[in-house]
Amino acid sequence: MAAVTAAQAGAKVGIMTKDELANGNMRIAGGIVASVNSIDADSETAFADDILRAGEFLSNPLLVKAAVEGSRQANLLLEEWGHIYRRDGKGNISPLSVIKPGGHSLARTLTCENQGMSLATTFRSAIAREAVCCWENTLVLDLVVEDGKVLGALGYNIIDGNLLFVRAKAVILATGGGGMIFSPQTDNTRSATGDGYALGYAAGLPLVDMEQIQWLPFGVAKPASLRGINIGDTSDAGPRGVLVNSEGEVVLRGVATCTRSAVTRTIARENRAGRGGPNGGLFLDATANLDDPVGKAFLAQLQARGVLGPVRAAYGPKAYAWTEPYEVLPTQHFFCGGVQVDADGRTALANLYAVGEVTGGIHGADRLGSVALCDSIVFGHRAAMHAVEGFDEEKPADDSVILPYLDGARKRIESVLARSCGTLPILLKAELGRAMAEKVGCVRDKAGLEEALQMVLSLGEKADSVYVPAGRTYNMALVDYFELEYMLVCAEAVIRCSLAREESRGSHFREDYPQRDEGLDFRSVIAYRGANGKMLTRLEEMGERFVNQVEGAKI
Ligand SMILES: Cc1cc2nc3c(=O)[nH]c(=O)nc-3n(C[C@H](O)[C@H](O)[C@H](O)COP(=O)(O)OP(=O)(O)OC[C@H]3O[C@@H](n4cnc5c(N)ncnc54)[C@H](O)[C@@H]3O)c2cc1C
Repeated sequence: MAAVTAAQAGAKVGIMTKDELANGNMRIAGGIVASVNSIDADSETAFADDILRAGEFLSNPLLVKAAVEGSRQANLLLEEWGHIYRRDGKGNISPLSVIKPGGHSLARTLTCENQGMSLATTFRSAIAREAVCCWENTLVLDLVVEDGKVLGALGYNIIDGNLLFVRAKAVILATGGGGMIFSPQTDNTRSATGDGYALGYAAGLPLVDMEQIQWLPFGVAKPASLRGINIGDTSDAGPRGVLVNSEGEVVLRGVATCTRSAVTRTIARENRAGRGGPNGGLFLDATANLDDPVGKAFLAQLQARGVLGPVRAAYGPKAYAWTEPYEVLPTQHFFCGGVQVDADGRTALANLYAVGEVTGGIHGADRLGSVALCDSIVFGHRAAMHAVEGFDEEKPADDSVILPYLDGARKRIESVLARSCGTLPILLKAELGRAMAEKVGCVRDKAGLEEALQMVLSLGEKADSVYVPAGRTYNMALVDYFELEYMLVCAEAVIRCSLAREESRGSHFREDYPQRDEGLDFRSVIAYRGANGKMLTRLEEMGERFVNQVEGAKI
């Protein structure tokens, strides 16, 4: 969104992306996008109230206001570029095609035929039309900073192994989330390795509320190759679905009406008590739906919508027909926290913006379905407009600033490729994923978090001596090495923020502090780099102006 907006506003734009263009989580998303006033009864206040309520006093109301106000215009703009939301025969957005994901008080979410693929294709086409320069398969290694100003970005081309520096009047970070730190227990795409959090942190930016990680309860539990794929939301258990533990006890009834976090916690807690399934989940027993006409009709609807496709692939036809229970396992879905930004996507560094899942603040402690894509689209547009309007006079490239970055990257690559033995980085990535899912999942406590922290720090030491087979062309082990370093920073931030938030709120549940602490309303946990280079955390008041605005809302 940002690239096309900036190009249309007259800027010369380039995109560095480590995949092919538009290949992030947006491409695999369900493509449901919230938009204010999709139906007459809706209003900006109602939409903002819903986001604030879900965020449990941790959302920044200025960001919420900007997202809500921009949502309708941004979606209309997307349609101008070729994306089509479901409409009726007269070309209107029909109430039948507008849905109400859990937590929204009204139906305001637009749907489309080809889901995230449609959005990704629309962006690819718009980028091509605007002749934006694209460096695909180019992984950003560094943001180049001089005197608190970002001058551009340094990238590594995965295909030919060359380094590339792009000087820019403004840089917009849109690197998505970091679900791979929980791999394989995540429904994210493999490129979601938290690079933007680490790049921002290295450049001196504060990260906000990184403990707030959203999980979905129904991930595939087995086989290993499908683990983490999402099967559906809580409502997809049908009106009579229940959760059963390994001792055959029903531990949760009315699953369809529960929140995502209530269901994920039940699964995690039963497992901690030794009553989980063989793969760390619980059994979703939806068989009783078949004795109920509403349940039967619901199953037919799910099958028609293709929602249960992963169930058939993972567990076979009986599970698909709801005639036998199957094991479900929480799967990591979304980072609510991230780089701290203002309502125009500006960061604490001049000329640097951040948009989308890499940012924190709008969703607070929990995110409503369909608001992530709304957030990426609206803030992509806002940040690009702001950046173009505020361009400085062009300053000639200063080699004395850029060369040390290039030399540092070259030496780093040469040194890692010179080793003849050691552990492959992909093995350390796997170790990290297992530890994070086990100790920093949807139920946490101090002892487990401290163990996870020690594990991450020791993986950091091992990462300093990994073995990467020599060669610069398509060396995916080298990519794993770069990503591992990003993932370790991201994981450390998640753990340190989780330790610092001594309460349970939204997506963050501490078994040793199971209640919400009202004293921590509007107080964010900030992870930042201390003077000694170590990661520190502090609690930060959101400030009077934010609190006053929220008081008017009906939370
Ligand atoms: C299975 C699934 C379904 C979802 N469904 C919905 C939905 O229906 N509605 C909704 O609102 N939200 C949904 N979400 C959430 C939503 O898709 C994401 O939050 C959103 O796509 C984030 O957009 P983004 O542009 O910030 O990041 P992404 O779309 O993930 O894009 C990030 C891009 O940055 C690139 N990148 C990362 N690091 C680097 C680097 N170091 N150098 C160069 N490039 C880099 C990646 O390759 C990628 O192309 C879903 C998420 C998942 C996983």
